Amino acid sequence: MGRETHFFFGVETMNNSKLLSIKKKLEKQRSDLLQEAEQTLLDKIGKEKESFPDPTDQAVAELDSNFQLRLRGREQKLLKKIDEAIARIEDGTYGVCESCGENISVRRLEARPVTTLCIECKTQQEEEEKMMERKR
Ligand SMILES: [Zn+2]
Repeated sequence: MGRETHFFFGVETMNNSKLLSIKKKLEKQRSDLLQEAEQTLLDKIGKEKESFPDPTDQAVAELDSNFQLRLRGREQKLLKKIDEAIARIEDGTYGVCESCGENISVRRLEARPVTTLCIECKTQQEEEEKMMERKR
């Protein structure tokens, strides 16, 4: 495993049909996400219509909207990643690790199409994050 596996996958080239299927997957994910975000918004508007005078309910409502704001933040982040991945497919730079410049394995791209890091750089990043958490 490790470097040898990475090398093996790196040799495998991304062909057009694979690239297209990944692009389709990304576009599907994008429209699902937008639909979900829209639904969340509609739910929120629906809830706001039944406004309660009770201060406890008010607090609950505020908690709710905080949660949804956070959710939207996460959705937006993912949407941005999806858009960037689609743009990279279109300009032909898709599948290259932004940290080391190596090709990202096809399997990894299929499993996680928005990724911008090869498995080694990702593993390294996660280890660094874990170390940061330990320090906290
Ligand atoms: Zn890398």
